[in-house]
Amino acid sequence: MKKHNFFAGPAILPASVLKEAAAAVTDFAGMGLSILEISHRSPEFVAVLDEAEALVRELLEVSDDYGVLFLPGGASSEFYLTAMNLLNEDETAGYIDTGAWSAKAIKEAKNFGHVNVLASSKEANYNYIPSGYDIPAGLRYVHLTSNNTIFGTQFQEFPETDAPLVADMSSDIFSRPLPLERFGVIYAGAQKNMGPAGVALVIVRKDLLGHVKRALPSMLDYRVHIKGQSSFNTPPVYPIYVSMLTLRWVKEHGGVAAMQKKNEDKAKLLYDEIDRNPKFRTTVEDPASRSLMNVCFVPTDEADTKPFLEAAEAAGCVGIKGHRSVGGFRASIYNSMPKESVQVLVDVMKAF
Ligand SMILES: *Cc1c(COP(=O)(O)O)cnc(C)c1O
Repeated sequence: MKKHNFFAGPAILPASVLKEAAAAVTDFAGMGLSILEISHRSPEFVAVLDEAEALVRELLEVSDDYGVLFLPGGASSEFYLTAMNLLNEDETAGYIDTGAWSAKAIKEAKNFGHVNVLASSKEANYNYIPSGYDIPAGLRYVHLTSNNTIFGTQFQEFPETDAPLVADMSSDIFSRPLPLERFGVIYAGAQKNMGPAGVALVIVRKDLLGHVKRALPSMLDYRVHIKGQSSFNTPPVYPIYVSMLTLRWVKEHGGVAAMQKKNEDKAKLLYDEIDRNPKFRTTVEDPASRSLMNVCFVPTDEADTKPFLEAAEAAGCVGIKGHRSVGGFRASIYNSMPKESVQVLVDVMKAF
């Protein structure tokens, strides 16, 4: 039976990407060698890195004012690397607390400077994106989590501020066009919307670097990786290769504007059914806070949890059990998720 993959991450990748990625494990670029056993400095792999960077720049319209990096350590390493590279001990950064990942970023940043939590939706179990808060002048940067994978909320507009925005976009990178000039740093673990686990994408405005007074170990210094073009040491070659294939797929399918349109379409299908069907209830009431990537909902009657999971599973829908901090269900419908799969889940809900 065909499986419909709603896992939150690592998550669905396009079938054509998986096929090509599998072939490269035995014969990469006609070399008669596996991509897993060649030098990261071979022209064939350097071409992969170059194309991956070029695709990031083209898809998100990233200028030469920014470095584009592929780094190991996941998004979680960027929680501390952003603060370590940007924030002096006597300076203050603003943070918007919209979920578990934001809270982790706040915790790590406190090791390096002052943190001003500008707004939080914690008191409501993070079920909305705060608005209408003041942002004081003089902040080094303002950090936010653009899409809250666990709680199913997403910034539809970014806060107005003179300070550069620093954003964890792990679960919605390449899902929509961005006002790039407002961002100082964008980072994302690959395994939600870009590729397999093992690499993080970092887009960083170069003029923000070199300002901190602390000594930075080479591996933790963004400038070292910009100079080394993501090959200061051996980079995670295979996750970078598969991410590059996925970015090619995004481009072939019309780029991020086309992704956004398709994502809006898929999300509407699902939210409309949740709002219509008396058996289910949304956990994100405010339409302006709803995520197009992770759709969270709960059964009206708690006793329906297990039967619905079983009904979904019987239709091939896997990965919809909600995160333990929200309960119920979560359908992750990233770029690679076809509308037909969302329709299968909606049909299960209708029949339930
Ligand atoms: C998954 C996730 C992370 C953690 O990513 P790792 O690569 O596992 O460190 C951070 N932020 C967000 C928004 C996520 O969805």
